Amino acid sequence: MSLYRLIYASRARQGLSFPDLRDIMEKSERNNGVAGITGMLGFGDEMFLQILEGGRRIISQTYHRIAQDPRHYEPELIEFGPIEERSFGVWSMKLVQLGQMDPGKLGALRLRYSSTTNFNPSVMSAQQCLRFMVEMNALLGGSGY
Ligand code: FAD
Repeated sequence: MSLYRLIYASRARQGLSFPDLRDIMEKSERNNGVAGITGMLGFGDEMFLQILEGGRRIISQTYHRIAQDPRHYEPELIEFGPIEERSFGVWSMKLVQLGQMDPGKLGALRLRYSSTTNFNPSVMSAQQCLRFMVEMNALLGGSGY
């Protein structure tokens, strides 16, 4: 079974609450763990950026389910293709809330990988999205493995 990575961005529903995020993470951890999916979900400036890694069919099915979720809208597929190895092998799904990060470090990371000063994955390439998430994970002390 080939290993695939999918990257997408979306806009959070207005008024999305902490219990909403907690529920998303509980479902993600449960479902992704069983499905062999790993990845990371970033949330900031009312936008989501998610990376899913795993088998092609299950990643595709999971993305289509997520895209129907009314807690976000305008999902934009940034990348879906085969990879040699996982970048987030340890996490069934790790949530990073950008608002809780060190503003200086986050600002520097945003500027390195984006043309905007706010978090807007829609203007970032797939490679920039991936590197942004990998470095954010490292900033938070995660090695990915
Ligand atoms: P149930 O929990 O039984 O849900 C059934 C249906 O109700 C689903 O269509 C679901 O979308 C909807 N629903 C459930 N709770 C709510 C709620 N509080 N408000 C509105 N609708 C609701 N799921 C994963 O498995 N893996 C992921 O990586 C993942 N990432 C996500 C990222 C984002 C940004 C969002 C918004 C959701 C994500 N989800 C993820 C959740 C996913 O969209 C589904 O809600 C979840 O997979 C359904 O889990 P379930 O099969 O146990 O169904």
